[in-house]
This record gives sequence, C-alpha cells and structure tokens, in this order.
Amino acid sequence: MKKIYEVFGTDAFSMTVSLLESAEVEKIIPKKDAVIALKPNLIHDDIPENGAVTHPGVVAGCVDYLKKRGFHNIEVVESSWVGANTQRSFVRSGMKKVCEDYGIPFYDLKKDATVVVETPFRPIRVCKRAYDADFLMDLPVLKGHCQTRMTCALKNLKGCIPDQEKRQFHSDGLTKPIAALAAVLHPDFTIVDSICGDLNFEEGGNPVQTNRMYAGCDAVNLDAYGCRLMGLSISDVGYLPLAAQWGAGELSLEDTEIIRLNEPVDSREYPKPTGKVAALTRRVHQNQACSACYASLVRALYLSQGKLADRGDIFIGQGFKGKALDGIGIGRCCENATVCVKGCPPTAEEILNLL
Ligand code: SF4
Repeated sequence: MKKIYEVFGTDAFSMTVSLLESAEVEKIIPKKDAVIALKPNLIHDDIPENGAVTHPGVVAGCVDYLKKRGFHNIEVVESSWVGANTQRSFVRSGMKKVCEDYGIPFYDLKKDATVVVETPFRPIRVCKRAYDADFLMDLPVLKGHCQTRMTCALKNLKGCIPDQEKRQFHSDGLTKPIAALAAVLHPDFTIVDSICGDLNFEEGGNPVQTNRMYAGCDAVNLDAYGCRLMGLSISDVGYLPLAAQWGAGELSLEDTEIIRLNEPVDSREYPKPTGKVAALTRRVHQNQACSACYASLVRALYLSQGKLADRGDIFIGQGFKGKALDGIGIGRCCENATVCVKGCPPTAEEILNLL
C-alpha cells in the first residue's frame, strides 16, 4: 500500500523534519555517500509568501535531517523559468542563506551540462546534475496553473531541463513532455509545500494560506492527491494519466493510506484576503477557520465560477461550532448549517460535490 504523510502548521522547517522522520527517508537512500539533489521550485525572483516558490524552511529541514543522519553529499539544484535569473531567485527566496548556513552548494541548472534521454514521447535533453543524482528530492509548491490547471511534483521537474527544452515543451503542448520527463526522472522522494500556494497562477500573486504539507515516494500519486485537495479531477490535468500510463507512478488513491501527523489548527492570524481571493470570499463568514479548511473553500469557490457563492451565505470555522446557521456550512464545525459539507477539513472536491 502506498503512503502519503500529511502535516498541518506554519513552520516549514519542523513540518519537513516531521515528514522525513515519519517516512524514515534515511532507510531508502541507497548509500551514505549518495549524491542527494534537492529540487525546490524557484520559478522566478520572489518570496514564498506570494505563493510561487518553495519555502526555504523546506530545504533547511531536509538538509538538517540528512546531515544529522550522516548524509553530507547534498546539493540544491534549480533552473528558473525562461527569462528569469536563477541566481536572483535563489537569493530572493531565502534559499541562498539556507545554503550558506549549512555549507551546501547550489547549482544553477541553466549552466549545467545536459544529457539526451530517451522517453516514451521523444528524446528529451535533461540537466546532468539532476539526472545523475543518486537520490532526487522533489520539493514543489502545490498551486494552480493557467494552462495545465495545477502544478506540483511532476511539473516541478521542468526546472531540471535547459531553457531550449523548456521552450520546446510549450511548443509540444506541455502534456506529453511533462509526462515523459516524469517517466525518466523519477524523484525518489517528494515533499509538497502547500503552506501558501497560488490559486491559479504558477508565478504567484494570489496566495491561499493552506498551512499543509504532504510527502511520499510516488510523485504521480502525490499529484493525484493534490488534484483532490484543489477540487480538480484527474482528467483536468492531462499529463497525470499519461505519466501513470508511461510508468511514472500510480494514479489511483484507492490503495493509498493518508497518514496524518497532526490535525489542522485554528488560524487566528489568517491574513485578510486580497485581490481575487477577496472577491471570491465576499459571502463567506469566517470565525477561527483552520487554513486548510479555508483554502479548500477558496479553491472550490474559484472552480465553481460563482455558482457556489450564488447558493447563499457560507460559514466556516471553529467559532461556529454548535450554532444554527442559515446557509452552507463548511466542515464539521458548521454541521448545524442548512446544508453542510462534512469533513475536517473537507477537500475542495467534496465542497464542489454540493453543486
Ligand atoms: S472543520 Fe473545523 S476544525 Fe476541521 S479543519 Fe475545518 S475549521 Fe478546522
């Protein structure tokens, strides 16, 4: 049975360490002197709070965990998207400080040698440091994407190819090349940063505070779980079924055990929504809602294109426990609403089922 480990909170460092400890990752690294490549998402020059790039605490948590267990051959690798300067992304995201603090090298894959790899789609040019690593750790952000609907573990691997190949991926329509790359660049372990991913753009700007991270060995399975959290069906994300068909991982979550390391917590410091998120949540009454719960609702509101909000007032949060509510209740705290989507927290998919 496959396992996905899930943890809630706001401290990326301690959440990462908890995930690694629970999954006993040291036992699946082939040897003590293994070259371990950490691949965050540093898509462009930005801070994690905008919902686009991996939190530096994730990389710090990985390095700390690995070093304490005698693994010292660790490097961070990334190539920002076409037109962005990877070095600037490295500095702005806070990743440079982490690498300096731990004495870990960072490699800009735009400058790396490449190797042409046969894939089920066509030969693809891949950066050598990522391809040759003994143990590849994929550290994506779960977020929306204007073309592929979602981006997470599989699409993050696009940062392991040179710019010329990235352009070709777009000419090829993304679906097939992303699936093919996943089939040959299997990450050995993936940790998804879903603390604050963007609602619908990979470059960020509409962050949704989710305060969740999850991890496992099967990148396809983790992306399928990401779809469920975001209220997307697998067929919405074309590269996922294809990647499974080409042997990159298992699509079905039926035989996947979701192991929760803690429960979602009341987010009293939830930031005031802005921009698109503020517009989406205009009929939402929030009282001590956990971030994971609120994020599911925001994604469902976004995907329903106004239909959910048209149904009436929406209530969410622990402050509504035991109260009769005239409208839609989200989560078991609001079970006394006219209609309630149970769960703690419910997924966006479960909320959308209401329609
Ligand atoms: S149902 Fe209540 S306790 Fe559960 S995640 Fe939602 S707000 Fe938190």
